Amino acid sequence: MLPTTLLEAILIASPLVAAHGSHHEHRDHASISPRAPPPGKDTSKLNRPKLGSVPYGPNIQSCTIPGKVALTFDDGPAGYTGAVLDLLAKNNVKATFFLNANNVEGLITNKQVYRDVVKRMFNEGHHIGSHSYTHADFDLISTQQRREEIIYNEIAIADILGVFPTYFRPPYTHCNGGCQADIVALGYHVSNYNLDTKDWEGDYNKARQNFVGALASGNPGFNSFISLAHDIHEETAKTLVQFMIDQARKYKYELTTMGDCLGDAHTNWYRNADTGAAWNGRPLPADEPEETTTSTSLTPTPTPTSTSTSTSSTSSAAQTSSAPASTVTSTSSSAATSTGSSASVKQSTTSHANGKPTDSVSSQTSPSTTPTDAPPSSGFSPVRDGASGVGLALALFVGLLMF
Ligand SMILES: [Zn+2]
Repeated sequence: MLPTTLLEAILIASPLVAAHGSHHEHRDHASISPRAPPPGKDTSKLNRPKLGSVPYGPNIQSCTIPGKVALTFDDGPAGYTGAVLDLLAKNNVKATFFLNANNVEGLITNKQVYRDVVKRMFNEGHHIGSHSYTHADFDLISTQQRREEIIYNEIAIADILGVFPTYFRPPYTHCNGGCQADIVALGYHVSNYNLDTKDWEGDYNKARQNFVGALASGNPGFNSFISLAHDIHEETAKTLVQFMIDQARKYKYELTTMGDCLGDAHTNWYRNADTGAAWNGRPLPADEPEETTTSTSLTPTPTPTSTSTSTSSTSSAAQTSSAPASTVTSTSSSAATSTGSSASVKQSTTSHANGKPTDSVSSQTSPSTTPTDAPPSSGFSPVRDGASGVGLALALFVGLLMF
């Protein structure tokens, strides 16, 4: 089967990984390199043409279009992602999510609640990027392991969406040496940020100050921001998201996705998992009714996995097919020269991205701060269904007795 083929390919291509396993346990453990791919279609042999005009080489840290704020969220999906999606919907804001398919909540494709959350992100028009499979530190792993981290993540995402991302954010913002070339070789934009809220540190006064301080020091006529926060943290979902939306609007910035603030057509955000070509722009088909019931009954306290996916998919279909890229690009030409915009891709703007591994504590902090309320196992839903069947039988029985 395909997973075996991929695993074999990895073992053949990287004899060091296999041979050194027992002698260098600590190193293997530190790299958290997965040995087997998740269930799904093998994407490792696809052609990956460069899509659109957003650069694949340099580390992207800011938008090319001034006046934009792209809210980005890393490390999910997890227990609070649904709440973040609710807030974004309520405020009519599109954001960007860099996903790990096997991070704080384990393999997301095994849990219907997270499959539904990822589908919802996609159908509601948010921009989904990759953040590696297990949140590995890309400066500590080999080229072969980086390939595994990226390809396994796309197999999992494609298992849910049928497409996988073209934007990649390196965990911990660590991507030195040959790392950038490895990412680009797999057809990904290296997608960083120029505004770090540092929400993972847990000091939300400071996080708010970080956000508003950057906006206040800029000018929407010239500046734009790609901000970083984490949807796996309760306080981010409860207070920071709304604060960021309100402040961005107060300072006259338009909230948008990373792809939109770079003027990239939505179809270039993803590749077809069968062909490697650009996404065809079509939303996912609406969920089957029994799936919807399941996700409702499984909803953990902080994850209101609203089941509005079917209605919202219609609106996002309209949104994606209305050629959003061309509208965005025209804004850019009126506001900034093209030379200025290409410069801003490389420019690291201000001291926010000072090379500090801002993301670094997040994986250590997350287990303690992240919700431990993983949804009940999927065995739960048949019980529900069974219970309603028993109720019906009982009602019939009572009915018969009455007659
Ligand atoms: Zn991260």
